[in-house]
Amino acid sequence: MKDEIALTAYKCKKCGKLHYPFHDRCLECRGREFDKVKPQGNAKLLTYTAIFNLPWGFDQRFLILGVAEFQNQVKAMGQIKAESTDKLKVGMPVKPSWEPIRVQNGEDVYGLKFEPM
Ligand SMILES: [Zn+2]
Repeated sequence: MKDEIALTAYKCKKCGKLHYPFHDRCLECRGREFDKVKPQGNAKLLTYTAIFNLPWGFDQRFLILGVAEFQNQVKAMGQIKAESTDKLKVGMPVKPSWEPIRVQNGEDVYGLKFEPM
């Protein structure tokens, strides 16, 4: 596990809208200048889904993916550490971490994970 969530969102300097992933122009005001923003604090689960047909490189039988919103409004998608979707609820707090999510060419690929709290 790594301490830092290696994910950057982009906040429009004009109107303050957050973008993740990066867009050339602000979706709100077409502005072109952005401040980099790191996700902060814990996150709140906005939506989730289970995926059963995984691409090569995953050794799990299925994955639960979710979109969560951090305390500073950055939204991002990640894997949810849960055995099933039974105990998941929209709006529940989740703890973000940056961990290997799969292996590609013999190397770990890191990504975002959320652990229900
Ligand atoms: Zn803007």
